[in-house]
Amino acid sequence: MPGWSRRYCRTPSRHFVFDFPARIKQTSYVAEIRLNSPLQYIKGVGPKKAATLSRHGLNDVRDLLLYLPRQYLDRTNVVPIGQLKVDQSATIIGEVKAHGTLYGKRRRYEVLLDDGTGAIALVWFQGVRYWERLFKKGQKFAATGTVTSFMGAQMIHPDLERLEDDSDRMIHAGRIIPVYPQTAELNKAGLNSKGIRRLTTFIFENLSEKLTDYLPGKESQKQGLASLHEAIEHIHYPENREQVETGRRRLAFDELLSFQFLVQRSKSQKEETKKKHRYDKPGEKLTRVKEGLGFDLTSGQKRAVREIFADLQLSRPMSRMLQGDVGCGKTVVAVLAALYVAENNLQAAFMAPTEILAEQHFRNWKDRLAEVGVACGLLTSSLKAADKKRIAAQCADGEIDILFGTHALIYDYVSFMNLGLVIIDEQHRFGVEQRGKLYAKGDNPDLLVMTATPIPRTLALTLYGDLNISTIDTLPPGRKPIRTVWRTDDIRAKVYEFIVEEITKGGQAYVIYPLIEKSEQVELENVEDAFRELSATAFAGYRVGMVHGRVKAAERDEILRRFRDGELDILMATTVIEVGIDNPRATVMVIEHAERFGLAQLHQLRGRIGRGEKQATLVAVAHNPISDIGRQRLNYFTSTTDGFKISEADLELRGPGEIFGVRQSGLPELRAANLSRDRDLIEASHELLVRLFSRQYGLDTEYQKLYNYLDNAASARTLYTGGG
Ligand code: ADP
Ligand code: MG
Repeated sequence: MPGWSRRYCRTPSRHFVFDFPARIKQTSYVAEIRLNSPLQYIKGVGPKKAATLSRHGLNDVRDLLLYLPRQYLDRTNVVPIGQLKVDQSATIIGEVKAHGTLYGKRRRYEVLLDDGTGAIALVWFQGVRYWERLFKKGQKFAATGTVTSFMGAQMIHPDLERLEDDSDRMIHAGRIIPVYPQTAELNKAGLNSKGIRRLTTFIFENLSEKLTDYLPGKESQKQGLASLHEAIEHIHYPENREQVETGRRRLAFDELLSFQFLVQRSKSQKEETKKKHRYDKPGEKLTRVKEGLGFDLTSGQKRAVREIFADLQLSRPMSRMLQGDVGCGKTVVAVLAALYVAENNLQAAFMAPTEILAEQHFRNWKDRLAEVGVACGLLTSSLKAADKKRIAAQCADGEIDILFGTHALIYDYVSFMNLGLVIIDEQHRFGVEQRGKLYAKGDNPDLLVMTATPIPRTLALTLYGDLNISTIDTLPPGRKPIRTVWRTDDIRAKVYEFIVEEITKGGQAYVIYPLIEKSEQVELENVEDAFRELSATAFAGYRVGMVHGRVKAAERDEILRRFRDGELDILMATTVIEVGIDNPRATVMVIEHAERFGLAQLHQLRGRIGRGEKQATLVAVAHNPISDIGRQRLNYFTSTTDGFKISEADLELRGPGEIFGVRQSGLPELRAANLSRDRDLIEASHELLVRLFSRQYGLDTEYQKLYNYLDNAASARTLYTGGG
């Protein structure tokens, strides 16, 4: 045939591909890139990679665009190899001095990278053959990873990029490069950060539409936020740090909006619920018990009682958190609420996290309440089976008005005749399901949760936005602030002398340790060794007890009881005593390795002392090396006894995850937003939400769209915060 080359005839398809590579790409991939295009058809992906991406939740283009980098390589801030420290995450730039496969327990590929200040080994255990072909002596690479130590400094599986000589200038001009979350599987499929970056580059160059922005333009302008599309571009392609931050802020705003939407929705659902039970005006029993207290309620307590009672009288169930510093007297407020419930022929359940605490509440109150004809019960796991049965039966029959107890209350064999109020003491010590289980034993009962770790305002708006909050901001009169100091461990002998002195004056002491027993991993003091040693030396001749998480509950409670009743002088313990006993004779607490504890926890521990008339002292003993943050924390801890300030600072230092139970709340994970730092965004998104909710049925189209969008997204989730 004329015009046909022999080559074409032989291998038509190869010829075609070879000659028109750009055309091929254009027709089969490029023109089609839309937000809902499956990733499989994006250039360079194909079915295998697509399957890998899909297993990481990435199915279409939109998913990938919303896949956020976990960090950025700031090439303007490269660390000289000679200055690297173990555990440091860093970017280094150097020249390949040597490379090769090493055979040991595991085959590994090592590259020795040198920048003149020092050398470091880059190590790969996988893809050895791939790496073998990659490196040549004298090439320049940028590597980012975490420094570990194994016969010298090394980085395992660093993020790597070859740098041509002439790109140096660009690097130092401050290019910022996104690093995406990595898994071994992604890596293996060639979808490391570089691979993902290649994809996003291609997508942005060829995307034929923009991400729909549900936020009305008026709002983003008002808050000075980027449009969604712009934000996403900045996130994947920042020209500088500022762009990363503008992108992040916009996404953070969206996250906070959805997050709070869930919470607000749950709140308005609760508000629409009607409870079956009702309350009459507070009666004579309450008056009598209050008069018999032996003290006047503080102004904070009075206000809390007023707020709770008013809430109980509403037709919807109460969802209220009572917060107040350790020792401010939350128990009496809760008991008065329970009594009000009992006056109305309803039952109250009062759940505490430890046996000793439940028992203490029960013992403190049962007689006083019996005097006005209100019956209390106590249910804990350590009761004999027959007793448990009896109590459960009395509760089911309505003979018990107020049932105190531990986790034992949530078991199936426990039921109530007419549960009106659920009280949860030290709520953060319970899991979501545990709180929910107790709540479910009533028909829309009222709920009061208590916490001694005050909730910073940002969290009150977000995480706890569906709870009403009562705050006790007063301490009972006559409390002396606890004298708090921190010392290094070299003066420990003096600390022991001080303890002995206090005991001689009639006081008692706690000594707190971070570990139960010696650990191979960390070199920290442990309570078992210390107990053995000090009982024979510094504390010889004194009555010393020990409790920790592995001491059986019954034995532990017995020791705590003996300490409370003054039968022990010194209690050596782990943080199991963080909540619990109220022992006014305890005047000293020593915390070993205080540099290891979070601020809120230190403060909780401190709350165990200073409950009596005498001056109490806390000595925080820090062990070298003490990090700057540790030092900062200790200085802060000794400077204030204000629980609110402490929890704000703690939130800032540690983030909300652990402390405030964000992880277990069922709320979406925040990837861009930060609950401690994005205060302005929280306030702004909250304000927008309140507007959305208050005029839910009369919104402008744009706002109605936003509402619908949030509502759709929210429907897929269940939320757990307070209990119900
Ligand atoms: P927390 O808020 O930490 O749970 P508690 O309820 O255990 O505090 O109260 C601590 C102590 O203060 C208890 O011994 C309690 O009897 C006492 N107390 C509570 N309110 C007052 C008050 N208004 N005046 C004096 N003592 C009080
Ligand atoms: Mg308490």
